[in-house]
Amino acid sequence: MTRNFLFTLFFIFSAFSFFAQGTTVYSPQLINNTAPFPGESCASEYAENEFLKDPAYAQTRANFEAQIQQYIQQNSGSRAAGVVYTIPVVFHVMHSGEAIGDSTNISYPQALSCINALNRDFRRTAADGGIANSGPLVVDAEIEFCMAQRDPNGNATTGVTRHDMSGDQDYLDSGVYHTAALWRSDFSMKSSVNWDNTQYMNVWVVNKIRNLNNIYSSGGYSGGVQGYAYFPGAPSPYDEVVMVSFAVGNDPTGALGYNLWGPTDDNRVFTHEVGHYLNLYHTFSGTDSCTQVIPCATGGDRCCDTPVTTVGAGNNCTAPVCPLDNKENYMQYQNGSCASDFTPDQLACFSWINLLLRKL
Ligand SMILES: [Zn+2]
Repeated sequence: MTRNFLFTLFFIFSAFSFFAQGTTVYSPQLINNTAPFPGESCASEYAENEFLKDPAYAQTRANFEAQIQQYIQQNSGSRAAGVVYTIPVVFHVMHSGEAIGDSTNISYPQALSCINALNRDFRRTAADGGIANSGPLVVDAEIEFCMAQRDPNGNATTGVTRHDMSGDQDYLDSGVYHTAALWRSDFSMKSSVNWDNTQYMNVWVVNKIRNLNNIYSSGGYSGGVQGYAYFPGAPSPYDEVVMVSFAVGNDPTGALGYNLWGPTDDNRVFTHEVGHYLNLYHTFSGTDSCTQVIPCATGGDRCCDTPVTTVGAGNNCTAPVCPLDNKENYMQYQNGSCASDFTPDQLACFSWINLLLRKL
């Protein structure tokens, strides 16, 4: 089964991305883009760039980055092994009025499969359903996820809340982020049912993102943004993960009958977005050439052990974009079927965030 989960029209962009050696190492054009290019499935860095226009937020992020680099230097780029963080997750299913288990109103087992798949990827457990798990730089991130057991009032919960949005025509028509200029248009939706972001990872399961159809919409999904997350430091209720419903869950063989789009039925778009949520940039962030960004600790993706790469050609588990490209990295754009790596430096970045900043 083809899992070109991050691109459908990638070649359009790559045609303009030349891999000139020794040339540009920083691309304002990439940094300042305000909207994903056609077919791009992730909008996290665009949302981040929009937030960075706020000087207070930019200062918060700069302080975080300084703390992270200090932590990495003082701990030789790693943390004590064997300390596993567990992050409680709540899924807010913002469905279109369907019965539970139908279309955008995903079932509890489908949401739970997402948790299990996150644990597969962050703990680097055995291969699942034929999915590769053999990248060269892979480490056990020692982060786990679980369904929330208690709601903010201390009452028992399944970890899934359901919200019938069928009375909101704007949401039905456009979902969230319905124009490229309105990167904050998810605010009212999040504000209405947000759980404390210092206690939970809130996941918003939505019908559409940026006016792109769901697979259940008239016309159907034809490529584009499937998810985004905000980096640590974003104020509540922004500080969450937003996913289109058909990319939430793990059913690579289709045997479980979940409501998933075939090319992203292994939950690895979600893994990618949680990487952003835990402070990881794209491995190609801020560069459009195969020349190393210097200094690597503060430029590019801020991780010195992720080889330089560009946004690349996608959908290809065999041909690297740049000569040393860690094409298996979750924060690269590539097939879910070959995604398997978080590196030690990436681990250091989100360890610190969990322990001291988010306090989850
Ligand atoms: Zn991304």
